[in-house]
Amino acid sequence: MDKDTILKMTALEAGAAIKEGKTTSVEITKVFLDKIAEDNKKYNSYITVCDDALEQAAKADEDIKAGKLTGALAGVPIAIKDNICTKGIKTTCASKMLHNFIPPYDATVIKKIKAEGMVILGKTNMDEFAMGSTTETSFFGPTYNPWGDNRVPGGSSGGSAACVASDNAYFALGSDTGGSIRQPASFCGVTGLKPTYGTVSRYGLVAFASSLDQIGPIGRDIMDVAAMFNLICGIDEKDQTSTEVTPIDLDKVASFDVKGLKVGLPEQYFGEGIDKDVKEQVMNAVKLLESKGAIVETFPMPIVDYAIPTYYIIACAEACSNLSRYDGIKYGYRPEGVDDLMELYIKARSEGFGMEVKRRIMLGNFVLSSGYYDAYYNKALQAKALIKEAFDKAFEKYDVVIGPVAPTTALKAGESLSDPLKMYLGDICTVLINIVGLPAISVPCGFDGQGLPVGMQLIGKHYSEELLCGITAAFQKETDFHKRRNV
Ligand code: GLN
Repeated sequence: MDKDTILKMTALEAGAAIKEGKTTSVEITKVFLDKIAEDNKKYNSYITVCDDALEQAAKADEDIKAGKLTGALAGVPIAIKDNICTKGIKTTCASKMLHNFIPPYDATVIKKIKAEGMVILGKTNMDEFAMGSTTETSFFGPTYNPWGDNRVPGGSSGGSAACVASDNAYFALGSDTGGSIRQPASFCGVTGLKPTYGTVSRYGLVAFASSLDQIGPIGRDIMDVAAMFNLICGIDEKDQTSTEVTPIDLDKVASFDVKGLKVGLPEQYFGEGIDKDVKEQVMNAVKLLESKGAIVETFPMPIVDYAIPTYYIIACAEACSNLSRYDGIKYGYRPEGVDDLMELYIKARSEGFGMEVKRRIMLGNFVLSSGYYDAYYNKALQAKALIKEAFDKAFEKYDVVIGPVAPTTALKAGESLSDPLKMYLGDICTVLINIVGLPAISVPCGFDGQGLPVGMQLIGKHYSEELLCGITAAFQKETDFHKRRNV
């Protein structure tokens, strides 16, 4: 098969082509490794490229031939965000703290990927410990968006989105605590799913904010994303918050009809602070659904005003507790020349963590401290209950809630680094979904005046992945935004 055909297929097409003997896992993997070698200086989307990728591919080819591997994605390569533990492969969280950490075990999602016979190409760049929206806080330098000169790819799964958008992978796994799958997918013009909390095991995902974190796929189209979700979802005894899941019926997704679908548009998602072009493109997409028979209505959702403070209080509170394990002793960064234990702790954490991570640890400790706990953390929990109520009410009336993924398209590199509050405000459309554990999809739906991709966000009830994928499939049949590339 020629190189271009290989690079332009979807993951499911690649899996089928391998099975039909039109190509091999080794041939495909080689093409991607060459492409990564060419491109990684430009985009920096990978922190680590697996030096055994071709061996993995050869093994997959052998097992496919022998009839031992029969899955739809056997032999297909994938990229993995660098906060998901991979046995024997560095897992750095883009932090100096873990820059040399080699996990002795696989995350549950990685076990599933290996059992399918997929090939791990490498580990993708991200904001340090998944804290950020631009992939600029990485210890390994920023990732760049293939769509524009000097634009950020979004974050924190910026490497995962950028590698899919630049043909450096068919698809990738990311993690989403407050938008980190959806927002980079939106900035890079690819499709990303943040699954319902609990549907995908978090075992082996380096924890940021455990009640919000969720692993999910970023891909070229919704069929690839849905297939990947089916592969990684399900109950896991190693994650007590994981649940039994009914897999998505891909045939139903492929033939989904939006006729009669009840769509709710929260007013606040189209109000002040949302870029004019973003609004326009999302509204055009909604009109397309309407023209296919969806019934669209606007409704007020004033709780959106509380999204950012609620999220940042809960996320930072959980983060400061989760990150207390990095003490310079068990693993990761160990400072030199210290005289006593206290000095070791202080130096390891002062030198091992970057600015944004330290800011969040301090914020988290502050909102949990006695005297402030009631004023901040408890208030955030109360707001969480109200947010849940608002969505429950919305879903009594609507099958799906639609809005933009982010208020803007991809920012210029450096623009928000100096102004963390500005960066936090960019999370207004995504964080609510994590607070209540809902599923949501980022769907490429157009371009702004500068030619940068715009994403539409579909939000559903708990466990409504199949419906959300169906709507996306119906939309992607009518449009080619998800296929357009700038490479
Ligand atoms: N941008 C958000 C934050 O900085 C979300 C990050 C995430 O989802 N991992 O916290």
